[in-house]
Amino acid sequence: MRYVKISKENTYKFLEHLKATGALYAPQKISDRFYDFCAISDVHDVEFEYDRTIRPPRRFFHLPDEKMFNFDMTRHELTPVKTQAEHIILFGVHSCDIVGLRIMDAEFLDEQKDSYYETRRKKGIIIGLSCLPDEYCFCNVRRIEFVDAGFDLFFHELPDGFLVRVGTVTGHKLVDPHPELFEEVSADDTKNMELFEEKRSSMFSIYGNWDNLRYFLELRMDHPMYDRESEICLGCGNCTLTCPTCRCYDVKDLPAINQVNGERVRFWDSCQFRSHGLVAGDHNFRATKKDRFFNRYHCKNAYCPETTTSYCVGCGRCTYFCPAEINFKRNLMEIAGYRGAV
Ligand code: SF4
Ligand code: SF4
Repeated sequence: MRYVKISKENTYKFLEHLKATGALYAPQKISDRFYDFCAISDVHDVEFEYDRTIRPPRRFFHLPDEKMFNFDMTRHELTPVKTQAEHIILFGVHSCDIVGLRIMDAEFLDEQKDSYYETRRKKGIIIGLSCLPDEYCFCNVRRIEFVDAGFDLFFHELPDGFLVRVGTVTGHKLVDPHPELFEEVSADDTKNMELFEEKRSSMFSIYGNWDNLRYFLELRMDHPMYDRESEICLGCGNCTLTCPTCRCYDVKDLPAINQVNGERVRFWDSCQFRSHGLVAGDHNFRATKKDRFFNRYHCKNAYCPETTTSYCVGCGRCTYFCPAEINFKRNLMEIAGYRGAV
């Protein structure tokens, strides 16, 4: 892997160059508590020190809603909508969200490729950014606090700039035309990266490895936590809609007023909604709130074979954005008997 350094001042100049390459999105503060990936017009608005965005990066590739087909009922014809994708540069993506995108790739780009997702993903450039954990983060016990794939460039904070890992050919093509902005990495820079990593590791509230969590969940399916916590769950779906790896969607046919034409759309769904398990004959295979609550805990803690991680990347969003203050990390620790601060 290639390593270069960039000063903070030159980072702003580099962001200007990125803006000329495509649509640049980066974290911005959108309220007292919340950040989001926003279209950047002034590069000085980029937030380098943010905790988590309310909407995960997957939304750029798997749109919250999109038209898939137009149909004509008289001719029994479906016409696929051609995906129009612009070049997107996502700057400031944390490790957890990079693994989240790799999980999305595993699901949408397997042997049955989703062409809508694929078209957009091919035009996406991912630039990672190092971060310090807060009490909601547990990416370390998920083994993904330091990623080695899934980014074109990765910016590691230094006292006077960033140490940049170049991860792909695309990354090289972004760096190579601007030798005036980048410099060689010195021994001091490497030492500073080491100190940052040490500081980051020391800030997690829990330690260890949760690889055996799935099995404790399977062995303790009748744990009283499910009754207690599902009782206070509002079924709002915030936990899934903010999750960087949730990908359930529903499909709807919308006939036009002429009753001849129409369009088929798909839109994000949530396993926390009653309608998610509702099928023909008014049967619901997850009829109760507890069923739906239980499903999320098991789905998120299954393993994704392609990334060899769990589907939960430990970003903390589902707790941070839960209006009922249900603490996912604490509940998992309770079931598995893990120790540590919650
Ligand atoms: S965000 Fe909280 S209240 Fe809403 S569905 Fe998820 S667990 Fe329940
Ligand atoms: S389940 Fe919660 S903590 Fe895990 S990736 Fe999804 S939002 Fe993040």
